[in-house]
Amino acid sequence: MFKTLLNKCFKKSIWVYHTNTGACNGCDIEVINALTPYYDAERFGIKLVGTPRHADALLVCGPVTRQVVPALKCLYDSVPDPKLIIAIGSCAIGGGIWYNTYNVIGGVDKVLPVDYFIPGCPPRPEAILYGIAVALGLVKKKVSPVILKEESPEKWMTF
Ligand code: SF4
Repeated sequence: MFKTLLNKCFKKSIWVYHTNTGACNGCDIEVINALTPYYDAERFGIKLVGTPRHADALLVCGPVTRQVVPALKCLYDSVPDPKLIIAIGSCAIGGGIWYNTYNVIGGVDKVLPVDYFIPGCPPRPEAILYGIAVALGLVKKKVSPVILKEESPEKWMTF
């Protein structure tokens, strides 16, 4: 259902608005890096816009500080429907190294309905492009879930 909506609404391009809710700037630099001619996000139709009113998606970097919550909600309301929310970086996903600190309420999903998470500290520009391309259905996911199991220590004791 969500995929069908995505394919219908964002067929050829996606205009993005980038915001920082308390990031150290590491993720922001990588987002900007992905948009520079070297990585050339525009060849996939991913275009940075200067106002949320023109955007299809919000790229959010950083943990959500208490101070920024009202502004973030206002920003979300400014983006016309249908819209995508993409959380970029460990801080935006769950608070990162600021988890449980006095002035941080957590990841972006504490305030907004996040559609996609791109992990990393910071994620490389390739990962950001790949994440958005997967979200748009431009590429199929190349990885399948990995289920980790605890191994017994005897396996390694072969003296
Ligand atoms: S995920 Fe890492 S690089 Fe990004 S804002 Fe947090 S600390 Fe900075």
